[in-house]
Amino acid sequence: AFDLSAHLHHYVAPHVLVVPYPAQGHTNPALSVAKFLADNGISITLVQATNGLLPQIPSHSVHGNQALKIFRKETIPSGLDHSKPLSGAVLKVSFDVMRAALRELLQKLMLEENPPICLLIDSFFGWGNDIAVEFGLSRVDLWTSSATTFYLGIHVQDLVTRGFIPATEEGAKEKIVDFLPGLSPLRVADMPQNLIPEEGLQSGMFIRFRSVIQSAKWADRILINTMYELDTNVIECLRREDHIHIDPVGPLHVDVMSVAPNSSVSLVQQDDHCLSLLDRQQQSSVLYCAFGSLASIDENVVAELAHGLEASGESFLWVIRPDKYKNNASVEEILPEGFMERTRDRGLVISWAPQLSVLGHSSVGAFLTHCGWNSVLESLSNGVPMLGFPQMAEQNTNLKLIVHDWKVGLPLLQQEVNTQKVERKHVQRAITAIMRGDEGLQIRMRAREWKEIAEKAIHGSSKDNLQKLVDDLKQGKL
Ligand code: UDP
Repeated sequence: AFDLSAHLHHYVAPHVLVVPYPAQGHTNPALSVAKFLADNGISITLVQATNGLLPQIPSHSVHGNQALKIFRKETIPSGLDHSKPLSGAVLKVSFDVMRAALRELLQKLMLEENPPICLLIDSFFGWGNDIAVEFGLSRVDLWTSSATTFYLGIHVQDLVTRGFIPATEEGAKEKIVDFLPGLSPLRVADMPQNLIPEEGLQSGMFIRFRSVIQSAKWADRILINTMYELDTNVIECLRREDHIHIDPVGPLHVDVMSVAPNSSVSLVQQDDHCLSLLDRQQQSSVLYCAFGSLASIDENVVAELAHGLEASGESFLWVIRPDKYKNNASVEEILPEGFMERTRDRGLVISWAPQLSVLGHSSVGAFLTHCGWNSVLESLSNGVPMLGFPQMAEQNTNLKLIVHDWKVGLPLLQQEVNTQKVERKHVQRAITAIMRGDEGLQIRMRAREWKEIAEKAIHGSSKDNLQKLVDDLKQGKL
């Protein structure tokens, strides 16, 4: 006889294919979302693109419910050529490789008993829409940089029509963009670099950015790694005026179920020794300096930073990545002669830090950062004020938000000084200002408030949005 009750009890977990972009700052947030979904009864296939440089993500890093076999991992080649600098052309080749491999994988998965129903993909690829349509999947995009960057991207045509882009003429970068509701006025120079390339509108990066945004617009839902509390006005404008279903789910670097920093998967080996050293320092006395996973700082600039740091007399923990320098030079070779010995009693240079734990350590007083979006969120949610030294992409936009909108940091170099030329005296002045100066007092206090706000978002607004995603997947709305 047909046993209806047996069927009613047979729950088939909705299956989501999660595709992070293979870089540290993109993969961690995607893993965090994947974890939440798996912990809440969604079946996950995580697709990791590997390229020989990035180690495998260990499966245990995404717990999921192993008993239900709810989590599994597939690997595809990334096609990234690390012998060449990252450019539009290099990315295109790599994206074509990943896209073809993903299609092949999907062809296989669609024949399985419980095929994917939804593609959760990093917006950065720009072709998530095509794949989702081809395989009849719903699509959730993950946007891993700031809401302001996304918002400016959505309004790229308005920016062109109003003559802000391209900003190739003399003085064009000094114009103020003040027509976008929800966004405080910003200089054209503060817009993401992809929007104001030297080569104008024909630049490969500009065209790519535009198509990424265009594709993101078509997503059924966009998850963004920020907090509603941080980007309220922009999020509201995107929802109400631009009719985009965008849900803030950040900060995504911590386990969404607990505030304690989790073992976020570091794609490069960490140096944990620094934590015990931090244990021996006084509260808020150490400047943490790190510039993310991609930027390489010119050796002359490193020297000025070192001299400024030394002159400031502050204690520091500094991440310098020898792999970014010629012939894998040693740290001693990269730094000015004698710097390490002279600062031995108050400074430590390492090649990679457990950044979440470092920023969560009470000895850290400020963060000299390149303003990569993950670093910004990690700093804010640990209440650490920032000294911003942007290097590329939309890091200058993030710095503007940090300094002028949220007032939780200072620029390493004031706007009026030539930002191309780093001088030790400016470095020294900025370090003193953020660590102990009167100028930095309000900033230090305001930064501290964000720790609590971030904790609330993690357990409140952001968690609700993730839960809504789970519910909609289970109810067949996605
Ligand atoms: N990170 C780290 N140790 C380091 C430097 C960076 O764990 O020594 C992590 C950091 O916590 C962040 C990510 O690498 O999660 C960098 O992302 P971000 O968006 O800040 O910068 P990107 O690497 O994309 O430029």
